[in-house]
Amino acid sequence: MLKIIAIPAFNDNYLWLLHDGKRALVVDPGDATPVFDTLAELNLKLDVILVTHHHLDHTGGVSALRVKTGAKVYGPATENIPKPYEAVSEGRNITALGGQFQVIDVPGHTSGHIAYFSPDVDGKPLLFCGDTLFSGGCGRLFEGTPAQMLGSLDKLATLPGNTVVCCTHEYTLSNLRFAVAVDPDNADLSRYQTHCINLREQNLPTLPTSIAQELLINPFLRTRQPALVAAARQLDASAQDDTAVFAAVRQLKNQFK
Ligand code: ZN
Ligand code: FE
Repeated sequence: MLKIIAIPAFNDNYLWLLHDGKRALVVDPGDATPVFDTLAELNLKLDVILVTHHHLDHTGGVSALRVKTGAKVYGPATENIPKPYEAVSEGRNITALGGQFQVIDVPGHTSGHIAYFSPDVDGKPLLFCGDTLFSGGCGRLFEGTPAQMLGSLDKLATLPGNTVVCCTHEYTLSNLRFAVAVDPDNADLSRYQTHCINLREQNLPTLPTSIAQELLINPFLRTRQPALVAAARQLDASAQDDTAVFAAVRQLKNQFK
């Protein structure tokens, strides 16, 4: 039996920790302190650290955790993260906690961003996607192009619908305010927004989400839907192909208040 825990950090990060009651794996530990606290509280030994990209809110605690626990660190092959670590990219399989994690290249937020997908964690697929996919949104394009990010999100969209999706930020409510503005007649979206508002009122995370849920409500997985194409063309009347529409929707989100 593996258990997944969202450890809150900073303002709105979640540090995802997976454990079997004895050993643990942590993803993107931007801060070591809350991870040490959780390990001590549950009496766990940290085996593995998975890093999705180089931003400090995902890597700030890596060295302290590695030095103190001896955990093995995996990270993107083409980005600078705290050394030593094993550089991995798409096609690579990692064994951790007795399970398999496949590396998927998902450039866009950063140019070397990777995600980790396990086809079976206690009967369900599991995805750690860093800052690529959020519930109701996607990461800002700091280093990559719209074409790269669309390609990355298209890959994630083909994962099984019941995949448990562990995103690293609690941005859901603000993402959904934008989503409703550009996809106003989406009944699944308004239902989901009500559900998430209720969760946040009780101080509960809106995450993890699932691929099936995101396909219904996430504007960045729905840029080929007529409503999103129409919204994109309000901004850029010449947006014809998938990439131009995606770029325009991303631009609208950047400007949205
Ligand atoms: Zn980031
Ligand atoms: Fe981040």
